[in-house]
Amino acid sequence: MTPTSLETYIAEHESRFLDDLKEWLRIPSISALPEHTGDIRRAAEYAANQLRTIGFAHVELVATQGHPLVYGDWLQAADKPTVLIYGHYDVQPVDPIDLWQSPPFEPAERNGNLYARGACDDKGQTMLVIKALESLMGVYGTLPVNVRVLIEGEEENGGEAVEHFVRTASQRLACDAALICDTHMPSAENPALISGLRGIIYTEVEVQGARQDLHSGSYGGVAPNPLHTLAIIISRLKDAEGHIHIPGLYDKLRQPSEA
Ligand SMILES: [Zn+2]
Repeated sequence: MTPTSLETYIAEHESRFLDDLKEWLRIPSISALPEHTGDIRRAAEYAANQLRTIGFAHVELVATQGHPLVYGDWLQAADKPTVLIYGHYDVQPVDPIDLWQSPPFEPAERNGNLYARGACDDKGQTMLVIKALESLMGVYGTLPVNVRVLIEGEEENGGEAVEHFVRTASQRLACDAALICDTHMPSAENPALISGLRGIIYTEVEVQGARQDLHSGSYGGVAPNPLHTLAIIISRLKDAEGHIHIPGLYDKLRQPSEA
């Protein structure tokens, strides 16, 4: 099969694409650790420069209460829909460091995989999309839709800045569809479009009982046992069919539309 012009472009530029990703991966942009604030900024600037290089407009670092957001757009496709693409440039901490086979911020290739902190969450996915946009524009000189890109720096640490920005700058994020580039592929041969992820809530529940051991013959069945009480609480959250019994949880749930 003859490769398409798009495939040819990607093949010709593959090593540069990979080098650009590796350079980004070398920046230890750990959002949870204050000593990496400078690295966070460098990683954000790196992403902004990538967007500028491929010809995006309005590229800027949006200052927030926390780490900066990176925004850029390409809105030249008149009368075409707009896609908002999301990714994040921050990464998780790296401890325990001695479990790494190679240093977390020195990208290493083994068995056709690239190993570094952020390689698959989320610099890899985000860079992949930037290079896909570059390839499309390089070959066709245009994009089939309008594109806005928003890259945040607090995904691994609360994400408050992006939440505030989405609420207050909705005009700049106006779109017909959103593509969240922060998911995975089952395998290299098996790409996937993820349509939803489950949410998560962390909580700590402390149950207190008697101050000292109580004799089972005298108190058993009368004094509440914290372990038993906790088991009852947990077992009531969800039934055997997976239905969640927390009051109000399903109230705001909407079924996906046909579209
Ligand atoms: Zn992620």
